[in-house]
Amino acid sequence: MSNQQTARPTPAPTTEPAGLVLLGATGSIGDSTLEVIRQNPDALRLAGIACRSRWDKLAAIAREFSVPWVAIYDETAAREARDANAFPPGTQILDGAGGLRELASLPEAGTVLPAIVGTLGLEPTLAAVEAGKKIALASKEILVLAGSHFMEAVRRRGVEVLPVDSEHNAIFQCLQGHRPEDVYRLLLTASGGAFLDWPLADLAKVGPEQALKHPNWSMGPKVTVDSASMANKGLELMEARWLFDIEPSRIDVIIHRQSIVHSMVEFLDGSMLAQLSPPSMTFAIQHALLHPARAAGARPGLDFSQALRFDFEPPEKKRFPCLGLAREALEAGGNAPAVFNAANEVAVEAFLAKRIGFLDIPAVIKHTLDSATNAGTSCLEEILGADREARHRASSFLNKP
Ligand code: NAD
Ligand code: MG
Repeated sequence: MSNQQTARPTPAPTTEPAGLVLLGATGSIGDSTLEVIRQNPDALRLAGIACRSRWDKLAAIAREFSVPWVAIYDETAAREARDANAFPPGTQILDGAGGLRELASLPEAGTVLPAIVGTLGLEPTLAAVEAGKKIALASKEILVLAGSHFMEAVRRRGVEVLPVDSEHNAIFQCLQGHRPEDVYRLLLTASGGAFLDWPLADLAKVGPEQALKHPNWSMGPKVTVDSASMANKGLELMEARWLFDIEPSRIDVIIHRQSIVHSMVEFLDGSMLAQLSPPSMTFAIQHALLHPARAAGARPGLDFSQALRFDFEPPEKKRFPCLGLAREALEAGGNAPAVFNAANEVAVEAFLAKRIGFLDIPAVIKHTLDSATNAGTSCLEEILGADREARHRASSFLNKP
């Protein structure tokens, strides 16, 4: 059997490509998105790109793809970029939170792909929804923090949301052509991360060097640590709950160490559908950006001329306490998911800076969740306040002598 993708015909585009705005262009999802654009130059065109501060890398992208608009969140970095004349003549350079919002609402953009790590992607993405853009969503923090508000805005403005996170993209693909009432449950697959087979007793001693060695995926540092603790899968439970408007009790997590089956849907009759591809984000990104069209991919598909194994096993509760904490936060609702996310971000930053150990990550999350007040339902301002408050509580807990 051949898996030569180059032999597959790509249909000619029928319309002028609508512009794409890529928020978080200098990160890992940014890299994979650029790979997809290189592969599909007739269908995809970059109208705008944004990053936090790495203007040299942003400038190289602007040159390669002739991008007319850029935004740099960090205003000092934006000043440096302007002083260095780093961008091609005529490039519009925006900065700050306002610059990101303006970029996300550009009239020439049809689609916005938020791939900003952390919670700062929320505001520009909400601006993109209000401006009626199609959203190809990678930043899961947006749904964790403001799932109900975000989806309400999406429904009100009638915009389309295509999931880029590989599990949710897989579920989206499996749900096509099926009635929501026939879905029994969603099964999110997880690789198990760097420590799946480590003796539990050794986890107290592991540092960032070990946690950043992901067996299958190449991702940014925050997501890679979250994979090792499975906090990432906890965030993905929250993401799935809102994206697919489904009860948390109908979302399960299963370990699949090969990362080839990206997730599954079980229907009422016991039939299950799965989506498979090699572990590269280019598959999900290309699907989301070209949907409903398909085209030859940037990378070859699965090669069944080699023996392939698909293993599935339930996650051990003791090994992955962050997963249980995330489910509790999701079930508690209100601002608890935001508190979980904020505490985890503070803890992972401290872990990456070697200030705390790996097992301190769930301890920080638990302490912060236990000490936060939760009314059960919250408006967006209250959630953002809870996010700030949780960061403060988590940092104070960490700085306690
Ligand atoms: P990364 O750390 O590699 O890159 C983060 C990007 O965000 C960078 O371009 C950075 O400049 C940008 N950024 C950070 N703060 C910003 C700000 N305030 N304004 C503008 N830009 C800002 O992270 P990543 O792994 O690419 O992940 C990005 C997002 O995609 C995260 O939400 C993550 O959960 C999600 N995601 C990642 C993967 C993956 O394979 N890497 C898979 C699924 C989902
Ligand atoms: Mg994922």
